[in-house]
Amino acid sequence: MNSFKYVFVLFIFFTIRAFALDVAVVGAGASGLTAAHYLKKQGHSVTIFEKNNRVGGKVYSYKIDGTVIELGGLVVPTGFKTINSLVRIYGPRPQVFPSKILFLNHNNQWQKFKGYSALGPVRTLVQFKKLLRMYRRYPELNTPHLISTIHPDLFLPLDKFARKNGFYEVLPPLVMSLSASGYLYPEVIPAYYALKLFKTIAPIGIHGYLDNFNPFSSPYIKGLRSFKNGYSELWENMASHFDVRLGEKVISIEGGRLSTTKGTYKFDKVIISTDIPTARSIVMKPSNELEVFTMSLTKHRFLVSVIRTRDLPGKKRHSFFFYPNMTISRVNHILSMVNFWNDDELYITYQNLENKISWGEAHDILAEDVRATLGVKNFEVLKRVEWSYFHHLPSDPLSPEVATALQKLQGQDGIYFVGESLNFESTESAAENAKWVVGKYF
Ligand SMILES: Cc1cc2nc3c(=O)[nH]c(=O)nc-3n(C[C@H](O)[C@H](O)[C@H](O)COP(=O)(O)OP(=O)(O)OC[C@H]3O[C@@H](n4cnc5c(N)ncnc54)[C@H](O)[C@@H]3O)c2cc1C
Repeated sequence: MNSFKYVFVLFIFFTIRAFALDVAVVGAGASGLTAAHYLKKQGHSVTIFEKNNRVGGKVYSYKIDGTVIELGGLVVPTGFKTINSLVRIYGPRPQVFPSKILFLNHNNQWQKFKGYSALGPVRTLVQFKKLLRMYRRYPELNTPHLISTIHPDLFLPLDKFARKNGFYEVLPPLVMSLSASGYLYPEVIPAYYALKLFKTIAPIGIHGYLDNFNPFSSPYIKGLRSFKNGYSELWENMASHFDVRLGEKVISIEGGRLSTTKGTYKFDKVIISTDIPTARSIVMKPSNELEVFTMSLTKHRFLVSVIRTRDLPGKKRHSFFFYPNMTISRVNHILSMVNFWNDDELYITYQNLENKISWGEAHDILAEDVRATLGVKNFEVLKRVEWSYFHHLPSDPLSPEVATALQKLQGQDGIYFVGESLNFESTESAAENAKWVVGKYF
């Protein structure tokens, strides 16, 4: 190498080193690990702190009797661009998703999905056209946006927004396609959150429903994937490329000093991927913006139970069991019962819980519902996990104060936020948002 080239290579080396930052990431869920991936790509050095002894956060693949059961996030449509690019790099094995759907009709008999509207497909088509037009009217539903630039109407509860925009009648199938993840609260969930999700999941859901009419159809939905060894495998594979401090909870961050249950460290910048109320409790000198934003958030409690029963024989080729009369009661909202594993005995149920409900009460309500509605007399709860889920902006029009707070939130004192509250509740939006923040601020 001649001396000019040598000097040039040294120049590049030291320039990159001069810009390389020491970054701490708090949390090893979808958003924290994706942020770490893109930080590393930019040449920064990354340390991840995770309070649990496992990575994945709200993706939690639980193994029981040789079956992998997903207690949290599980499905990845082919439209999830960021996640699928990570899957290609880190290589967990995807598999197509079963699509056979059964409904319990009003006479308590199981039936295949037969459409939701008595007035038939024409009316449905008209409604769907309105829905598509609405997507064109609100470009913020199609690309990542700062919350402050989102139309306030999109923060209306989904049912009100749907009435206003004339697609109320097509809500049931859309809502059902998401019910397994606890999104079924059209009276509560802001339209923005739901519609972002519908956009990726609805086409696949519709495909699934249509499949149910075709006697020769494949029992799988082609555009929808889950993971053979569990979704956690993706996040575990990613984590193996980083310095991840498991079981090390971050307690405080102040002036670039980060204290954990095991020590105190100095970093150039910190990315927090926990939910915002947790972030607020970690940041010792929270800005006004963080205070305003934290105060504006609401949350859901969401209980997932794995149950074993022999009372549902012959249903094993069907993956979803929806209850048609999904009413919101004071305490509980059982959404659906799911068996993704083609196993005769293992099922998952989802319950939304009000804040004051204890686990014991939740269990009794579950038992009552499962017995009364499904006719299941004998069942055993094998595992339960409660997610403190949906820290989201309330379903009222977005206040200018919150919008401004959000706009100013990033970067104060070298602290950045990714993840919940900013990500609209799917691993894709968590990952997409983390990628966007790293690209914009680092
Ligand atoms: C039942 C259920 C079903 C779902 N289904 C799907 C689905 O099918 N497809 C889909 O894409 N999404 C689904 N989701 C949503 C998806 O799982 C979440 O949106 C996503 O995993 C959130 O990722 P995150 O990184 O933002 O947050 P999290 O996963 O919550 O990660 C935050 C991490 O921070 C850690 N942490 C918190 N406090 C501290 C601290 N003080 N110090 C150190 N670490 C800390 C936590 O332990 C956690 O690991 C589902 C969620 C649930 C609950």
